Amino acid sequence: MFDCIIVGAGVIGSSIARNLSKYKLNVLVLEKENDVGDGASGANSAIIHSGYDPKPGTLKAKMNVLGNPLLYKACEELDVEAKNVGSITLANNEEEIEILMDLAKRSEQNGVAYQLLNRDQLFEMEPNITKQVKMGLLAPTAGIVNPFELVVALMENAIDNGVQLHLNEEVIAISRHEEDSNVCFTVQTNKDSYETKYVINAAGVYSDKINEMVNDRFFTINPRRGEYFVLDHFNNQYIKHTLFNVPTDKGKGVLVSPTTHYNYLVGPSSDFIEDRDSVATEKEILDEVKFNAKRLVDNVPYQYQIRCFSGVRAVSSNNDFIIEETSKHFINVAGIQSPGLASSQAIALEVENIFLGSYSQVGVIEKNENYNPRRRPLIRLNNKTLEERQELIKQNPKLGRIICRCEQISEGEVLDVLNRSNPPHTIKGVKKRVRPGFGKCQGGFCESLVMQILQKHYGIDKTEINYGKEGSYIVKCKTKNN
Ligand SMILES: Cc1cc2nc3c(=O)[nH]c(=O)nc-3n(C[C@H](O)[C@H](O)[C@H](O)COP(=O)(O)OP(=O)(O)OC[C@H]3O[C@@H](n4cnc5c(N)ncnc54)[C@H](O)[C@@H]3O)c2cc1C
Repeated sequence: MFDCIIVGAGVIGSSIARNLSKYKLNVLVLEKENDVGDGASGANSAIIHSGYDPKPGTLKAKMNVLGNPLLYKACEELDVEAKNVGSITLANNEEEIEILMDLAKRSEQNGVAYQLLNRDQLFEMEPNITKQVKMGLLAPTAGIVNPFELVVALMENAIDNGVQLHLNEEVIAISRHEEDSNVCFTVQTNKDSYETKYVINAAGVYSDKINEMVNDRFFTINPRRGEYFVLDHFNNQYIKHTLFNVPTDKGKGVLVSPTTHYNYLVGPSSDFIEDRDSVATEKEILDEVKFNAKRLVDNVPYQYQIRCFSGVRAVSSNNDFIIEETSKHFINVAGIQSPGLASSQAIALEVENIFLGSYSQVGVIEKNENYNPRRRPLIRLNNKTLEERQELIKQNPKLGRIICRCEQISEGEVLDVLNRSNPPHTIKGVKKRVRPGFGKCQGGFCESLVMQILQKHYGIDKTEINYGKEGSYIVKCKTKNN
């Protein structure tokens, strides 16, 4: 019998798992994909929002404001890349200035630091912004995070502290039953079934479906897709802050932002879609993104574009986060659209408190004395001086074998993540953890080398290696005998 089953290993499920690992609890996370963070948590703008934008009084506002400093802290503990670059929202005409003044008011109501900037101040800070700009709102506490590393690290740390993770297990049914007045659940997956005292629903765009396995429908998820361009890292001073358009009724609007590796993101669009799993991109939508990005930067250098991608927001029918014990021992953490990443640590804390409050009525929770909030730092050869690298290579020659030329990643770094408690099983999983495939050639050089490393590490055939999702095999069969 588990104390708690968490459905979904995105940033929310993984953060909750890590928080619950502070206690002596038997916790299982069930994830339908073959890796953590393959939903919205791995396809977003990666902004640690400051909290000036959500409507005051909403859960989004509360969680974002509380979550901003907590996320920086978690990144420090877990050795996850995050940078406090600040964001600037730009207004190009009188109408947008009015919206900016409303945002300034919201910042005050939400208790978020801000500064209004005139044209001269804006050009001094960001010389490449649009010449049309009239005014800006700086949010100094905003930042950027490596979202892939974040989810992997949260779950790695949760596992190191005693949580179990089952990948490739989709929850297909949940039934509630009472034993000696104690509530418990049977959670049925595509592979097995488990008994648990609590269920926490962190299933992203499927959170309404999981809720309906136990409770009456009281919300639905309306999936809203956002599409992006990614530019290669060509100049790490091109844009220094995250630049936002003023928000519209479709959300925060298009941004141009550096990433933690000084790639640049341009996007996202915001369109409701039918298929919750559809992460396609469409030319017409991307043209619209380009049009809106022009209102931030006159000449986005699209010659450096290396890829496009999209992610799907889990917009709830009440347009706010849903974080509550909806029925006895069943906790919904649903409708976690943007700013869900920025709010993740506050949401996990809220869920921890709800869980502790509820559990204390049925049992005693002891602290896990062995809990360690830190994880072993990554090697990050890229950040080392030549002398430091040489010293490391002497100790481990595999760190001297570069397998990704664009991002300068070594075989030793891939082997390091393969030997952790939340290792990758796919080429995309390796890419998310140590970056081979993120550069200009998009895996053209490194993909076959990563494949060889995976093949050797797991003792499997190349035909069994997926690029990403189950079934996305790269090698179908042998064409020669040798
Ligand atoms: C385009 C876009 C831009 C965004 N930009 C930002 C931003 O800049 N800053 C910010 O703060 N937030 C941003 N967000 C929001 C943020 O990404 C999300 O709020 C956050 O990732 C939600 O995390 P999650 O864990 O709830 O969902 P997910 O990451 O989607 O995780 C849910 C998990 O549940 C699993 N699952 C679903 N059903 C089942 C089942 N039946 N059984 C087992 N597992 C299941 C899924 O496979 C998935 O892994 C953005 C989102 C999008 C889409």
